[in-house]
Order: sequence, then C-alpha cells, then structure tokens
Amino acid sequence: MERNRYRIIFLGPPGAGKGTQAERLAEDLKVKKISTGDILREAVAKGTELGQRAKSYMERGELVPDEIILGIIEEAINDEEGFILDGFPRNINQAKALDEMLSSKGLNITHVIFLDVPDEEIIKRIAYRRVCLKCGAVYNLIFNPPKEDEICNNCGSKLVQREDDREEVVRKRLEVYRGSTEALIRIYEERGVLRRINGLGDREEVFRRIREAL
Ligand code: ADP
Ligand code: ADP
Ligand code: ZN
Repeated sequence: MERNRYRIIFLGPPGAGKGTQAERLAEDLKVKKISTGDILREAVAKGTELGQRAKSYMERGELVPDEIILGIIEEAINDEEGFILDGFPRNINQAKALDEMLSSKGLNITHVIFLDVPDEEIIKRIAYRRVCLKCGAVYNLIFNPPKEDEICNNCGSKLVQREDDREEVVRKRLEVYRGSTEALIRIYEERGVLRRINGLGDREEVFRRIREAL
C-alpha cells in the first residue's frame, strides 16, 4: 500500500485553534487526527488507569509525564496512514522521541503548522470555549456558538467549560507553553518544515491559509 504523504504537527499556544483546524484538515486530507489532549480527557472521564495517572497534572495545567504520552503516541501512530498530531510534541524530549520513532520506519514529519495567535486573543478564545464531554465537539460562546444555548449540536448533551480553562490554570498552561513548547518552533524552522500561519481571523480564513501553506 502506498504511504500517505502527510505527517503533520500542529503547534501553537493553548486555545490557538489547533484542534479546530486539525479536525478540518484531517477530513480534507483523509488522514487521522491524533489529539493527546482528547485522548487524555476521554481517559479521565472514563476513569481508566491512564486517566488516573494523568488527571492531577492536567488539573494543574502541567505536562503529563513524557513516558505516559509516548506510550499513547506509539499506539496511535500507524506508519502507513499519515497523520495529524494535535498537542504533541510539547517539549524537546517528546520531539526527539517522535523523530526516533519515525526514522526507525524510514519516515519523517512533512509539515509543522505553527498557529500564531497573540495572548489577548487566546485569553478570549479560552474563556468562551465550551466543550461536549460526550462527543468531543468544541464551541465558542462568541465565535462559534451552538444552535441552542449550551447544548451540543451533534448529540444534544449539555456543554461545559473545561476544568483547566479556568483563569489560574490557563495562566499556568501559557507558562508551560513558553517554557517548554515554544522552543520547538526553532527546531522545526531550522529543519525547513515549519509553516508559520497567522491564526487571527475567522476559522475559514485560517483554514485557507493552512491549505495554501501545504
Ligand atoms: P486549541 O486546540 O489550540 O486549544 P481550539 O481549537 O479548542 O484550540 O480553539 C479554542 C477556542 O477558540 C474554541 O472555543 C474554538 O471554538 C475557538 N476558535 C477556534 N478557531 C477560532 C477562530 N479562528 N476565531 C475565533 N475563535 C476560534
Ligand atoms: P490545548 O488544546 O488548550 O492546547 P490540550 O487539550 O492539548 O490543551 O492539553 C490539555 C492538557 O493535557 C495539557 O495541559 C496537559 O496537561 C495534557 N497534555 C496534552 N498533550 C500533552 C503532551 N503532548 N505532553 C504532556 N501533556 C499533555
Ligand atoms: Zn456532543
């Protein structure tokens, strides 16, 4: 079987729109989206062993230990299929482990989409983010409201605010982003795979920019 040619990373601060755009792009390119945040939240909701190990870190806005995350990625990546990674890698160690995992199969990352969004906008997007815990849909009370107040369009469940979208935890997550994740921009830039995308503007416009950058 021919290998899908897209192996993409979405990089950017919390709330930049990675999940929103990664979902769209995955549909468009017919590759699978692997979101470590979604996988972890589902595990926490179900109370699995993974969820129990990850929960306290997530509540504090800290990174879940690398060995846990790498286990998830090893399981999720299928080298034949192509993929979009949303929320991974988040530090240099994770990026190195990913490189090793791929190069042992003769593969590489083809594009890194860096969604560039200034802090004031991030704060707004996160403050009004609401999610469906049942089907994973993501809304925004201002920019992308559900049809019916606080109810999921897809499945009718009540929308909630993520625990870690509270202001104190958001501040911590931004700090972690600056301290651990931002360094990846340079690494991928030097490798020539980084695409810096202006993340401001409506979702359609941002999607168009991403499409053009591929
Ligand atoms: P991330 O995965 O990077 O944390 P999300 O995709 O969850 O980001 O988006 C964060 C919030 O901002 C959500 O409420 C989402 O609906 C909203 N959002 C996403 N893209 C845009 C956009 N282009 N303009 C305004 N709001 C957006
Ligand atoms: P956002 O969409 O706001 O960028 P995520 O949904 O990607 O946030 O992540 C939520 C939380 O899950 C993080 O604060 C962290 O605790 C954990 N997490 C997700 N991905 C990773 C990762 N690659 N490494 C470590 N922790 C992670
Ligand atoms: Zn739903």
